[in-house]
Order: sequence, then structure tokens, then C-alpha cells
Amino acid sequence: MNATPPLISVVIPIYNEEASLPRLYQELTEALEDYGRPYEVIAVDDGSRDASFSVLSGLHAKDPRWRIVRFMRNFGQNPAIYAGFEQARGQVLVTIDADLQNPPSEIPKVVEKLEEGYDVVQGWRRQRQDSSVRRLLSRSINRLVSKITKMSVRDLGCSLKAFRREAAHHLMACTHSCRYIPAETAWHGLMLGEVEVEHRERSQGESKYGALALFRVSFDMIASISTLPIRAVAPLGIIFACLGFLISLRVVYFRIVHGDVSYMGAIMAALFVLTGVQMFTTAIMCEYISRIYTEVQRRPYYLIRDVLQKEPE
Ligand code: UDP
Ligand code: MG
Repeated sequence: MNATPPLISVVIPIYNEEASLPRLYQELTEALEDYGRPYEVIAVDDGSRDASFSVLSGLHAKDPRWRIVRFMRNFGQNPAIYAGFEQARGQVLVTIDADLQNPPSEIPKVVEKLEEGYDVVQGWRRQRQDSSVRRLLSRSINRLVSKITKMSVRDLGCSLKAFRREAAHHLMACTHSCRYIPAETAWHGLMLGEVEVEHRERSQGESKYGALALFRVSFDMIASISTLPIRAVAPLGIIFACLGFLISLRVVYFRIVHGDVSYMGAIMAALFVLTGVQMFTTAIMCEYISRIYTEVQRRPYYLIRDVLQKEPE
């Protein structure tokens, strides 16, 4: 007798997506029914101001596999995904956006890649259908996060991902308020697989991320796993102080060799040295602040993947 395949929970964050929802329901149902494995959908309405919630209520009424969570107000895409994870009952958790930029027919691809033995599978939008500014910014963020976390990843921003239940539980165990799933995946050292997925242009509604929001989210994500930005003050201070020292040498040289008594160089040197010393003092404070920041996050001190031990006979 064949065991029932494990339940797949599809988590969808939704903010003002009324126009996309009917097609999302249709494409997702077709894709997952064709796939033939049991599934549930957790649609998280992240404080939409349009008719998204009433459309979702209708979907829930006609298809009980669709469960709806409604936020009090707009909290953001990541909190919505975490809320979906909390509700998910499946062994495999899949996240996908509501706007159909990643077609639901690609869900089996990420699930199958996960079952090759990864903790998390990340979609890779090789032919990404977004503006060149977006693509450039994403490429820089991917590189920076890869460098900080020493984990090579091509497309952190792709929302189509699959997680083993245990991996999602690891993520949920960290409860500091500024946390982003891609950065957390890296921080936790989860085994990450990548699979190429299709990406389409948004056909309904508009992106919720303007240039400013993108910049804020990207900075926030980096700052959530690294104290690098605050620690950058120290090398800057050292550079300024060194420049000041070089200018002083030049001033002394011109004074001795050419008898130059202009005070301009001396003033510049003093300015650079003072700025450097001031920045370096600030850097020491930054160092303590970054330690406080790390402490208040209350992340686990270590994470164990496996313990191999034989029980005594
Ligand atoms: N979203 C959300 N809360 C927000 C912003 C976005 O739940 O505050 C949802 C949105 O409805 C969509 C997904 O997150 O399902 C991705 O948003 P969007 O397509 O605007 O992002 P982009 O594809 O431009 O990165
Ligand atoms: Mg989108």
C-alpha cells in the first residue's frame, strides 16, 4: 500500500491584489490538482485596502483548502509569510506571490528539488521580467549577502521557495522583530538548493516596492544579519587620520626645504587628523552599540543539525 504523499502548504502574502486573485486561484488549483498531491493554501491578507479580503472569503467558502489569515493592518510581506508558516500544517511549505509573476505551475519544480535533500529551495529567475534598475539592485544585494553570509546564492529575492517543515520551524524560533526570510535562511546555515524558474511581468496591479522601499528593505535586511554598516565608521576614521598625517609630513617638508610658512596646509592636516580621531572615537561607541544590537536579537548561540551517538548497550 502506498503511503499518502506529505501535505504541501502554499503560503501567499497578499496586499491589494484583488485583480490577481481569481486567476491566481484558477492557475494554482490547476497546477496542484495536476500534480496530484494533497495541498492547502494559507492566504495572508496583509491589511489590504481593496476588496482582496472579500474575494478571499469567497474562495474560502467554495474551497476549504484555502485558509485565510487577515492582518489588522499592513505589516509587510515578511511578517505575512511568517504568519502563514505559523498556520501551515504541511511537511513542505511553499511561498509564492499573489501577482502570478512566478507561475504556480512551477511549484512542483521547487518541491521536487527540495526532496533531493535540501532544507530550502530558492527559485532562480534567470529571465527576470523586472526593470533594469531592480535587477541591478538585486544583483548587488545578492552579492553582498553572499559575501556576508559566505553562502552563494543567485536570486535571494525570488519569492517562489520551498521549505522543509523543520527548516521553517528553525526560522520561526528566532523572534527578533527585524527578520527577513532570505537573510535568516543564510544565517541559520540551512542547506540551500536553487532551481531555475519562469518569471513573468506583473499583469494586474502594481509592484508594492518603489525605489525607496526597495532601498529601505535591502538595507534593513543587511542590517538584520550584520553589523557591517555601523562598523564601517572605524576604517573611515583611520583613512582620515592617515590622510591628516600625510598632509602634516608634506607641511613639514615644505617648511624645512622651501621655508614655506603658509598655514593652509597645517590647518588641513589638523582638520583631517581631528576628524579621523573623532570618527575613530565614534567607531568605538559603534562597536558597543553593535554588540548591544546583537544581544537584543537573542539569536541562538549555536544550532545543531545532527548528533551522531550510539546508545550504550
Ligand atoms: N505584499 C504583502 N505586503 C506588502 C507588500 C507586498 O503582502 O506590504 C505581497 C504582494 O501582495 C505580493 C508579494 O508580497 O503577493 C510581492 O509583492 P510585489 O509583487 O509588489 O513585489 P515585487 O514582485 O515587485 O518584488
Ligand atoms: Mg511581484
